[in-house]
Formats: sequence, structure tokens, C-alpha cells
Amino acid sequence: MYRTHTCGELRLEHQGTETTLAGWVQRKRELGGMTFVDLRDRYGITQLVFDENTSSELTDKLKKIGREYVIQATGLVRERSSKNKNIATGDIEIDVKALNVLSASATPPFTIEDESDGGDDIRMKYRYLDLRRNPVRENLVLRSNMAHAIRSYLNEQQFIETETPVLIKSTPEGARDFVVPSRMNEGEFYALPQSPQTFKQLLMVAGFDRYYQIVKCFRDEDLRADRQPEFTQIDCEMAFVEQEDVLNTFEGLTKHLFKTIKNVEVTDFPRMPYSEAIANYGSDKPDTRFEMLINDLTEVVKGKDFKVFDEAEFIGGICATGCAEYTRKQLDALTNWVKRPQIGAKGLVYVKCNEDGTFKSSVDKFYAQEDLQQWAAGCNAQPGDLILVLSGDKSHTLDALGALRLEMGKQLGLMDKNTFKPLWVVDFPLLEWDEETQRHYAMHHPFTAPKPEDIALLDTEPGKVRANAYDLVINGVEIGGGSVRIFDSELQAKMFSLLGFTKEEAEAQFGFLMNAFKFGAPPHAGIAFGFDRLVSLFAGLDTIRDVIAFPKNNAGRDVMIDSPSTISDAQLDELNLRVELKNK
Ligand code: ASP
Repeated sequence: MYRTHTCGELRLEHQGTETTLAGWVQRKRELGGMTFVDLRDRYGITQLVFDENTSSELTDKLKKIGREYVIQATGLVRERSSKNKNIATGDIEIDVKALNVLSASATPPFTIEDESDGGDDIRMKYRYLDLRRNPVRENLVLRSNMAHAIRSYLNEQQFIETETPVLIKSTPEGARDFVVPSRMNEGEFYALPQSPQTFKQLLMVAGFDRYYQIVKCFRDEDLRADRQPEFTQIDCEMAFVEQEDVLNTFEGLTKHLFKTIKNVEVTDFPRMPYSEAIANYGSDKPDTRFEMLINDLTEVVKGKDFKVFDEAEFIGGICATGCAEYTRKQLDALTNWVKRPQIGAKGLVYVKCNEDGTFKSSVDKFYAQEDLQQWAAGCNAQPGDLILVLSGDKSHTLDALGALRLEMGKQLGLMDKNTFKPLWVVDFPLLEWDEETQRHYAMHHPFTAPKPEDIALLDTEPGKVRANAYDLVINGVEIGGGSVRIFDSELQAKMFSLLGFTKEEAEAQFGFLMNAFKFGAPPHAGIAFGFDRLVSLFAGLDTIRDVIAFPKNNAGRDVMIDSPSTISDAQLDELNLRVELKNK
């Protein structure tokens, strides 16, 4: 037996017990003839003591061990004279009688303690050492607990966990695929799934009725802080359901997770049409922890010879409560902030609503006090508040106001990480027009059903058709999305044609699905949650990297195993991939 207890287990009540612990040496310190070793394992830290009476054999062994050695120590549990309130085992220590070095360690490249001196890059290279640190490991324990709670909820609801293939077929829709050359089928490629979408729909045709899978998905996109080339989804599909059934089931899952994992009771779970989210929050993933809604001032501000506004399609404002005292410097900083290319506003107009009922604005030349009074009314602003106004074309301006709203929320401390505000955004448009390629794209994916009452518009004004599609948003983060599916092969064929597929292309890409629909497809709908994002939200983190055991860096590289890497000529030959290179 390697150990009788873990390093997080022993308390005062164990006094006098003989114990054997095994773990890593976090620290060794000598103090007045005594040596103290902090022994760490996944459960905690226990102090080992070697006093003056320690045998010379033990002392010799002790001399050799250093940080991160793996040792086994046996001794009696005794009360500590100076207790450490910061750790659970802080009342006791082990008076060591026997010591065994199980494994030596090279000097670690950074300190393996809660606060590390290692930079990001070095910790990524030695991720297995970083994972020894409590805060890093705790995120992964949280992840494991959440996966467990998800499975137990879905199993309870009769969902069948089913694996779908990882080597599938490349499709032109959606993001870029990762592809895998096929050795046995020369010149042909598999693709890694961006999601198991078509497979889960086929499982509904197969009569599985309720499917789920916690599954890796792959998208070859440019990376951002919250993106990884491979990520995990909680992927689900249900048959004989309407949108409402899916929303209720996954509202239930969300509440179950908050209750079991965080002991948070979520009561309010509103539904908000997409159009309302855009108009009020300038975003399809509104952060509803705070108000500061966008107000349409277009009618109110026009006609006063201020050219910028008179020529703008849309003018909107937000009211920052209690910010009338903002200094010139703060306002300049905000102006520069909205002018950054990411936001793209041309400028920022402000109105200070002074405590004495007067107004001071950056456009006083054009607007009298009575005019500004109307702006204030339009924004529900009170004395002491600051109104921030942007103008331009409607969709960009709403975007920019949405971003400015979040920035002000951050500056004013309105985004508390321990407050959770989930909601459903519903009634998304079915299609999105792309100027560059001059065609429609599916806003969600091509299998999403239009709202029955909007189907007639498909031929006349496809851009106006709304979809039975929904997103779960929590604190401004899109946690999941899904839709009611098309289950009629003709409507599906029509959808493909709207998306610019020829009959032949649709047949070649998705013939298997349309064909399956000819054999009795039940009405069905589904959803997928981004598991990494959900865990990072629960952990109060800003990036999903911290909740993934072995993540990739911003360049899509695994710096620990050094991947991607080149492959040998022999491998290239076997895959028939060298032809191209030879011809160059
Ligand atoms: N497959 C979709 C996605 O990955 C989710 C769904 O519609 O179920 O976004």
C-alpha cells in the first residue's frame, strides 16, 4: 500500500495515528535543527517534520530530496505548535519515522504553488507541471463535476448517449474544416466534424428520440481568447418536440447545473426576440446583468443643422448613471475607445446632465437646453447622468453602442462575476446576406426550420424570414444554440437552393440526409452548448483555455508536444501527398 491517507485528509482527531502519505515535495525548509517538508497531492498539503532525533539514515535521504521529488513518508500524526489556518490540515503535522524516495525530480522550470512565477509560455510547455497547481487543477475538477451533473440530468430525462464518427465528410457550409487524407482512398479526404449535426438528425430518423453526447468538435478558424481549434460541445437532439419543449428541457439542465454545482437558484429565465436584443442591447448575446439600454434618438436629434446627425441613418444613445462628473480626460479616452478600428465609430457625442438640471454637451453649438432636455427624456436620464451618443448606419451604430455599453458596464463595475443572468434569444433571422459573395448564408445552419408563418416569404423576401432558432445566453456569453429542424425533404431542397446550391451540389453534399427524410422523419429539434465556455463561466474565467487540460496556444499550436509538425517523406508518399510538393 503506497498510502493510508491523502495529504488533505488528516485532522486533530487523527493525533497518534500512524500514517503513510505519498506525494510531491512542494517545499523543504530547515529551521533550528528541524526540517519541514510540505507534501502535496491532489487533495491538499500536509506538513512533515524531521526533528533532531531523526536517524542519520533518514537525514541522508532527506538531504537529497528537493522540490517535486515524489516521496513516501510514514510517521505519527501530532498536533502542531504553530497552526496554519490557511490549509485544512493546518492543525497537525507528521513526525516522520521512515522516508522513501519514489521518484527524483529535476528542478522545475517555475514554482508550483498557487501563485506561480512562470509566464504563460513556459507553463504551457510544461502543462503537466502547471496542472499540479491548485487553481489550474480545480478548474478541471469543476469540469469533471459539471460533465457528471450533465450526464445525470440527461440520463434521467431518457436521453441516450451515442458516439458519432470523427472521420466524416467536408462540407462547404459553416467554418473551415480540418481535413485528414485517406491512405486507402487515394486523393480523398475525411473531415473532422464541426458538429455532429447531420448524424444526430439521422439518429432521430432512426427513432432514438433523445440523443446527447459530450463531444469534441473541430473548426479551423482564426483563434481568439475564447476559441480553440478543438472544443467540446454538449450536443443534443430530440424528436416529437417543438421549440418550447427544447427550451424547457435545457432551461432545466441549466438550472440543475447552477443548483448542483454552484448552489445558485435561478428563477428568472426570460425569452427575448432577436430584434429586441439588437435594438436594446446592440447584440444578439445581451449581458442582462445591467440595464443601460440603447435608446433610439434618431427622430429627436435631427433637424438642428448638425450635419453628422442629419445625414445619419440612425442615432442612438445610452445613459451612464451617475457619470455626469466624467472629466475631459475620461471623455477623450472614451472617444478614442469608440474610434478604435474594432469599434469603428467616427466620434462620440456626450451630454452631461448636471445636478442643477442644466446640460453640458459636446454639441452645444447646435442644440439648446430644451433640445438636450428632450434627449435626456429619450434616454430616461436623470440629473447626474451622462448620455453617450453614436450615429451612422443602423447596424454598425447599434453594434458600436452595444460595445460601448459593455465598456461602460465594465468601468462602472456592473458585471459581477457571481451574478448569473441567463436568457433565451429567440426568433433569429433564417438567413444572412453577404455583400462580398452576394448570397444568403444560413444564420444558424441549413437544417434550421423557418417559422411556419414566414414560409410564404421564402420566395419573395427571404431576408425577412425568421427561424425557429434559439440561443442560450448567460452574462453576455453565447453558451448554446440550436433550432427546430426541417424534416421534409422538399423544404430542405428548397433551403439548399436558397443558399445557392445547385441540385447536384445539394445531392452530393447532403443527399444522404434528404434521402433519409424520405423514410419517415419525425419532427425534431436540438441544441448544442459550448461546454468549455460553460465551465469557464462557472469558474469565473475569461478564457476557455484555463478549463482545458491540454489547450492550444493562440497560433493553434500545442507547444508541449510541438504540434502541428511535419511528417516524414515516407508518410507523405503513403498518403500520396508528395506529388504536389515535387511539382513545385
Ligand atoms: N450543431 C449546431 C452547432 O454546432 C447546434 C445545433 O443546432 O444543435 O452550432
